[in-house]
Amino acid sequence: MSRTLLIIKPDATNRNLIGHVVNRLERAKFKVVEMRMVRLTEEKARKFYAVHEGKPFLNDLVKFMTSGPVVPMVLEKENAVTDLRTCIGATNPANADCGTIRYEIALDIEKNSVHASDSDDNAKIEIGFFFE
Ligand code: ADP
Ligand code: MG
Repeated sequence: MSRTLLIIKPDATNRNLIGHVVNRLERAKFKVVEMRMVRLTEEKARKFYAVHEGKPFLNDLVKFMTSGPVVPMVLEKENAVTDLRTCIGATNPANADCGTIRYEIALDIEKNSVHASDSDDNAKIEIGFFFE
């Protein structure tokens, strides 16, 4: 069993899709082992996305991620990181495979409804960002 971090982003919490996303994840055999609702400060959002420092979309991304509540959760499954990336689909929903969460509910390349860790190392770091 391994663990990864998923965040339900403000576009999805605002559209009352928390339950929908959790249901999708549970049906895909992920176990929710930690979950909370938080409002990110600008400082925290910048820290979380520090890897994107210098990218043209960073300022708007930080504004978006602090615009409403987010729901970070720790998910457990075999091959959790890679299976979750498959389950959420491509960053740009226009390129996301049919049946993925982003294909189904994402609004655009920025407001793409969910975040998922991209490696086991980053999963550990990102889980530590929200949970003990
Ligand atoms: P992912 O979330 O699929 O791992 P990235 O790590 O590349 O994608 O980007 C982090 C987040 O930044 C994306 O989920 C999206 O919200 C936003 N983003 C990425 N690329 C763009 C872009 N070209 N324009 C606007 N927002 C973007
Ligand atoms: Mg990423």
